[in-house]
Amino acid sequence: MKTFIKVLFILSLIGIFSTLFFLPINEQKPEKHEIKVVTTIFPAYDIARSISKDTDVQNKMLIQPGSDLHNYEPSPRDIVDIKDSDIFIYNGGESEEWVQKIISEIDTTNTIIIRMMDSVELKVENKDGILEQEVKEAEGTEEQEEYDEHIWTSPKNAIKIAESIAQAFKNSNPDNTATYQRNLVNLTKEMNKLDEGFHELANKKTGTLIVADRFPFKYFVDEYGFDYVAAFPGCSDQTEASAKTIAELSKLIIQNQEKVIFHLELTNTKIAQTLADSTGARQLTWHSLHNVSLEDFNAGYSYVDIMTKNLSNLSEALHDRITN
Ligand SMILES: [Zn+2]
Repeated sequence: MKTFIKVLFILSLIGIFSTLFFLPINEQKPEKHEIKVVTTIFPAYDIARSISKDTDVQNKMLIQPGSDLHNYEPSPRDIVDIKDSDIFIYNGGESEEWVQKIISEIDTTNTIIIRMMDSVELKVENKDGILEQEVKEAEGTEEQEEYDEHIWTSPKNAIKIAESIAQAFKNSNPDNTATYQRNLVNLTKEMNKLDEGFHELANKKTGTLIVADRFPFKYFVDEYGFDYVAAFPGCSDQTEASAKTIAELSKLIIQNQEKVIFHLELTNTKIAQTLADSTGARQLTWHSLHNVSLEDFNAGYSYVDIMTKNLSNLSEALHDRITN
């Protein structure tokens, strides 16, 4: 028994010493093959996760699952994580103006920085098909044309972003180049399949997509040519539509016999509900992939999973009248 207690005592001493000495050393000098990635938003997080599959990587998404990325502000811990990262991936639009300031103020010599908006051809923010335009005159400034930041909504763009992210991984850890390349090829295959699916649907489409919400899908609709009408622009924080907008959407639904009204994920569905109640059309989600709920995050839903669901929901909206 005494021996047993001695063994326990020695083991606990080893435990304490490990905590005191070994762990801090490990923290200061992470093992060579481990890559620390910090990503701002879900599409960056998820694409980095796919590219680094089967490798030793630590991937941290800065925005909390379920939160609105447009209101995100980095905490001191987030800034330290960006500084300590091997790869930092951000989108680089209007919602992430804080990034430039942070990376100009911290030492990023050991960090590969990827701005996703550098990977694709940018488009100015959408006004077509939007019923309520944002009023910026109140701020005393002329309305400026800004680049639309929702580049990831087009799977073609997502492929280009994945290529940039894969290159960053290869540069950061050349030993794993073959794995990153294999993961890129697999992801590209899946995204191309989605792209084909959306093109196929666009060729067969009948009707107009009715979005009783914001509309951050300019890159998407430009790629495939779907007809749509939406209440608000992409990053608008408006949630109340005017009576005129509700009436216009309602008229369209009835005239065109649309069977589906879309709202975005993690959003106020009041307008969609009002329209559903008055027209009998049903609500479906058109996921913009700004962020995912905590439940979906924990379940490991990916960009491809969510886009596949979008394809099915859009298909339901555009095919209903053919079958009815
Ligand atoms: Zn947005």
